Amino acid sequence: MIEKRDFYINGGWTAPAKARDCEVIDPSTEEACAVISLGDQADTDAAVAAAKAAFEGWAATPPAERLRLVKGILAQYEARKEEMAQAISLEMGAPIDLARNSQAPCLPWHLTNFLKAFEEIEWVRPLGPHAPNDRIALEPIGVVGLITPWNWPMNQVTLKVIPALLAGCTCVLKPSEEAPLSSLLFAEFVHDAGLPAGVFNLVNGDGAGVGTQLSSHPDVEMISFTGSTRAGRAISKAAAESLKRVTLELGGKGANLIFADADARAVERGVKHCFNNSGQSCNAPTRMLVERPFYDRAVEIATEVAAKTRVASAHEEGPHIGPVVNKRQFEQIQSYIQKGIDEGARLVAGGLGRPDGLNRGFFVRPTVFADVTPGMTIEREEIFGPVLSILPFETEEEAVRIANDTPYGLTNYVQSEDGARRNRLARRLRSGMVEMNGKSRGAGAPFGGVKASGRAREGGVWGIEEFLEVKAISGWDPEAEALAAE
Ligand code: NAD
Repeated sequence: MIEKRDFYINGGWTAPAKARDCEVIDPSTEEACAVISLGDQADTDAAVAAAKAAFEGWAATPPAERLRLVKGILAQYEARKEEMAQAISLEMGAPIDLARNSQAPCLPWHLTNFLKAFEEIEWVRPLGPHAPNDRIALEPIGVVGLITPWNWPMNQVTLKVIPALLAGCTCVLKPSEEAPLSSLLFAEFVHDAGLPAGVFNLVNGDGAGVGTQLSSHPDVEMISFTGSTRAGRAISKAAAESLKRVTLELGGKGANLIFADADARAVERGVKHCFNNSGQSCNAPTRMLVERPFYDRAVEIATEVAAKTRVASAHEEGPHIGPVVNKRQFEQIQSYIQKGIDEGARLVAGGLGRPDGLNRGFFVRPTVFADVTPGMTIEREEIFGPVLSILPFETEEEAVRIANDTPYGLTNYVQSEDGARRNRLARRLRSGMVEMNGKSRGAGAPFGGVKASGRAREGGVWGIEEFLEVKAISGWDPEAEALAAE
């Protein structure tokens, strides 16, 4: 049993003010694998105070020095990446291959991209030739609270901590209490990289405790949150009194529009994408919309792919899918499958209960529903499990209407060999991202959604700018500026 009760505050490991243990459950075995502490107000206050005390110094640190220190986290990761993959696999059930090849590498991938984006930031720039004494300066917002979920833990931690630090903010991270082990290891990386005390702090806790305390804290200038739409609303309300900036990355219900002229592999690709990480990705293409002439064949292919999808322990090597994160999530997915059946969708693969031979662990059968109609519960709500809904459509117009008729707007997908159609649809789909013909976003592209999927863009220059204030200055002396630059 791993015991990690301390928090990382002001450059050192600190015992919680009041002992309150929380077990981390291995989703493959349903056994406790670690114990952490849940913090309370005194821990939150101590972490925020440390971040506040460190802010002036960190904000005044020249950007090149901030860059050098943050880059040091990369070397720590390189030396300990297997530990990181093991931690993620254990805490949230990602199969070890997925943890090694996709989950853990989010850290170096995003960090490297941020280092590049950082070079593009113009900290002080002229307003324009019409106003020679005006400057626009970018400045760190202050102490920021970062609240992250369990599904892609290092992805979200890196997408928040790295740009916050590069921008010159100091931070308090509250990772998900379901998946705290990878973040505790990340804190060791930050420590060993030699970042100054108080610049980065970590307090474990739950939403009702540390999450709410950070969101309402008068000394926290901003909350950057990724998680459910429900928690996003609660955080916005808690943050309202202190008028802090809130950025939100929330859920999704992505549509994957497959036209009859699409590459034959598009259906297989779509099913695998939906089931990746056991369906626990906010940008999963969970609604497959297929043009009528190709519909029956697409259902056949999806059924075969689902039937062949192996489910096994996260500790086993190989390209299978693992369990879902916890009992609550398992039961919620079962109730969605039941609703799909009750509301008349045609179950063509998977279904209720665990896959054969897996009696323990939160394993879900890879499930496909065909003949889903707009408005069914499984078509509207985020299931967050390996459950795909397939719907037919007759015209492009109808496909756009179904795709956009959801409270969410994170990622939509289009599969068609007709380039003009792709370009047209890319503009008409109401979402923060559109990915077409299997091409995923390039390095430095912004990630984020519209409508109930959130208010934020993470990654690249946009991700750093989220943590910056814009200051308008007039009466600037360009001659003194030129002298200072010499
Ligand atoms: P969750 O909202 O329950 O928890 C996320 C984090 O918020 C955790 O750290 C939790 O402790 C904290 N939290 C919960 N309630 C809170 C409150 N009232 N105040 C402050 N903090 C609170 O979500 P989850 O179950 O961990 O993650 C799954 C959800 O996250 C899904 O809905 C998924 O779509 C979404 N998600 C979105 C993105 C994105 O970028 N858009 C990425 C990953 C996950």
